[in-house]
Amino acid sequence: MNVYLDNNATTPLHPEAKKAIVEFLDYFGNPSSMHLDGRLVKEKILWAKEQIADFLGVAIEDIIFTSCGSESNNTILKSMLFWPKEKQNLITTSIEHPAILETARFLEKNGINVKYIDVNQDGIINLSQLENLLNKNTGLVSIMYANNEIGTIQPLEKIAQIIREKSPDAFFHTDAVQAAGKIKLNLSNLPIDSASISGHKLYAPKGIGILYIKDFDKKRKLLTPLIHGGHQEKGFRAGTENTLGIIALGAACKALKSELDLEIERIRKIRDYFETKVSENIKDIIINGKDSNRVPGTSNITFKYIEGESILLKLDLQGFSVSTGSACSTGSLEPSHVLMALHKNPEIAHGSIRFSFGRENSLEQVDRLVEVLIKEIDILRKISPLSK
Ligand code: PLP
Repeated sequence: MNVYLDNNATTPLHPEAKKAIVEFLDYFGNPSSMHLDGRLVKEKILWAKEQIADFLGVAIEDIIFTSCGSESNNTILKSMLFWPKEKQNLITTSIEHPAILETARFLEKNGINVKYIDVNQDGIINLSQLENLLNKNTGLVSIMYANNEIGTIQPLEKIAQIIREKSPDAFFHTDAVQAAGKIKLNLSNLPIDSASISGHKLYAPKGIGILYIKDFDKKRKLLTPLIHGGHQEKGFRAGTENTLGIIALGAACKALKSELDLEIERIRKIRDYFETKVSENIKDIIINGKDSNRVPGTSNITFKYIEGESILLKLDLQGFSVSTGSACSTGSLEPSHVLMALHKNPEIAHGSIRFSFGRENSLEQVDRLVEVLIKEIDILRKISPLSK
């Protein structure tokens, strides 16, 4: 396997999550069943929910299990379709993940009015634009906590204050998928109404997500489930629970709770060491979002005059897994919408690589990575028609 430097795409299983899955494999009961086999699983789910609630700093009653971060985002945004016409006004940002942006486009096609806030060159949203867009008819504001491509953290407290002043009734959602497990969270202290979390970004398996809704019992009347059926998740999200995913997420949260403080500092050191080494040894680079508050493990670097994809392939051959922001859709390579929002320049957006460090990475790996990068960037620039 490669040295894995793509922890914003997904994370390896935490050893504690792996252990919990193995121990739980024989518990096959349906948690809705009244007999012992069902009750045993129900108890385990409750244990997991307690660990998750403790880790996120929320009340256990305010957690809804979903299948992923995308589902959590969709649940909140699509609820707008059932709101009164005068409240069908959504404000979001130009740098959201497609799980928000594509849902917003779907909503637009279905009669919802959507406005997109710009960001500055550091990847932080334009607060005066937000202030100007807000009014008494704003129904929902959805602003991501941390960006998946460049790691910038939006000033949610300040944003919430502006929302409360200009549109006190607006619902405030945050996509916290890239914040959970990367920075310390206390979601109930944050001035938000709801947040999306994804298990596979915090060392749990794929297929389990969370929708946090502050004061769920009071707010549920504003929201509409995507999946109707059984009474799971208080009737808000039907479907037999992903029991293995839930138990593993509980175990990952329990483990992260005790190690996160140290890990944040360790990973920040690795990222900063990496950026210093790259800056010292490779010219014509831009470290995207460097001057903003960022999650500690993300480093997004534009290497001018070359394409991100060629760097990615070279690094892959040399044993490193990284990613570009580009999405290869319909056969054409679109530049990253996030980097385009920052720089408005496709050439800069095309030449970027995202390195995202996690709990399995080390300084030694960075030394090797930088060595390889220096060599490969030099080779690629020599054959690039864009190089001077
Ligand atoms: N939101 C953000 C910011 C993300 O980075 C991602 C995944 O990359 C998602 C949402 C979607 O999460 P999931 O893969 O759990 O649907």
